[in-house]
Amino acid sequence: MLIGKKLSTYPDENGMYGEFGGRYAPESLRPALIELEEAFMSRTPKFLRELTRLNQDYGGRPTPLYHAKRLSDHVGGAQIYLKREDLLHGGAHKINNVLGQALLAKELGKKRIIAETGAGQHGVATAMVGALFGFETQIYMGTKDIERQKPNVNRMELLGAEVIPVDKGSSSLKDAVNEALRDWVGSVETTHYMIGSVVGPHPFPLIVREFQSVIGQEIKEQSHRVFGKLPDLVVACVGGGSNAAGTFYPLIDNCVDLIGVEAGGNSQGHGATISKGSPGIFHGAYSYVLQDNDGQIQEAHSISAGLDYPGVGPEHSFWRSVDRVRYEAVTDDEAVRAFYTLSRMEGIIPAIESSHAISKAVEIAAVMHPKQNIVVTLSGRGDKDLLRELEDNS
Ligand SMILES: *Cc1c(COP(=O)(O)O)cnc(C)c1O
Repeated sequence: MLIGKKLSTYPDENGMYGEFGGRYAPESLRPALIELEEAFMSRTPKFLRELTRLNQDYGGRPTPLYHAKRLSDHVGGAQIYLKREDLLHGGAHKINNVLGQALLAKELGKKRIIAETGAGQHGVATAMVGALFGFETQIYMGTKDIERQKPNVNRMELLGAEVIPVDKGSSSLKDAVNEALRDWVGSVETTHYMIGSVVGPHPFPLIVREFQSVIGQEIKEQSHRVFGKLPDLVVACVGGGSNAAGTFYPLIDNCVDLIGVEAGGNSQGHGATISKGSPGIFHGAYSYVLQDNDGQIQEAHSISAGLDYPGVGPEHSFWRSVDRVRYEAVTDDEAVRAFYTLSRMEGIIPAIESSHAISKAVEIAAVMHPKQNIVVTLSGRGDKDLLRELEDNS
């Protein structure tokens, strides 16, 4: 692990984190990306106060740092603490990002927002702030995902958003991103593209990381209060990488082990972009991506729709390249086991995405000392996964 080098920085003027990142976008989007970067960089104290108020009164922050004592005793090693992002409005960390971006869109005078969604979690969060701020809201979603995630489609529509089906390519998340980017090229004057993770062209990875960093900032304060020091290890799951980036970034210069957990999938495939992919340009940035030898993007496969993405945020690629964060894969089966273990040991049903992080934390806790502490970010609640899990196991 690399320690002692200051890594808590903004990317350079081209949006690069080391050799990763950048702004690989159509020329016509450049002015909007620069306008967005400027609005973000000149956030006023009033903006920050408004965001803090929304995070508290609308989102439900701060979230607790909970000592999972029964689980820790059961494992018989390190103490496991859960950062309870599952308790936020909407049931996941996604709200941290959309509240910030909605305030930016309002400052920029945008009347319409668009977003992509895979599992529907980011689509629901976007639809919530669309209603809250009175934006016209349209969500791009692959037809395959619309079939798989019907309850979230109903929620988005109830919240007043329009869901636009995408039946190109594999009819899933990466195709929804492509369509949202295409829409934005033609609508950029009136429209803000509310991207759902630390991906896309600069400044999106920076903006989303900053809005999600409230997770890691709270972990830092709460750890001191709850167990008197920083954790020995912090674990978070990585799809695009937003809950992990927000968890890790405030701790990146501290002497704390950090592990990002990717979707190891099954024999059909995986979503382990950093562990098993290679660098390339995808969705506006240079980062690790799942691609074949000709540079064709490969399909990701995971039991968790939220980790089913063949790309990853460029800052994660950077952290891996300097050996600051370790990235490991957890399989579908291991995640399902952790899903049941946490439900039965603690009465908390984790999202199947978050269950990947729980699985890795439990595995490592077992070989650590009871005086050591692990914090796991519980990125979301698992009610959305119930039906499918039960079917998978019947
Ligand atoms: C969307 C989602 C993820 C994956 O997204 P990241 O950007 O990697 O955080 C993980 N967990 C939950 C509960 C999600 O909704």
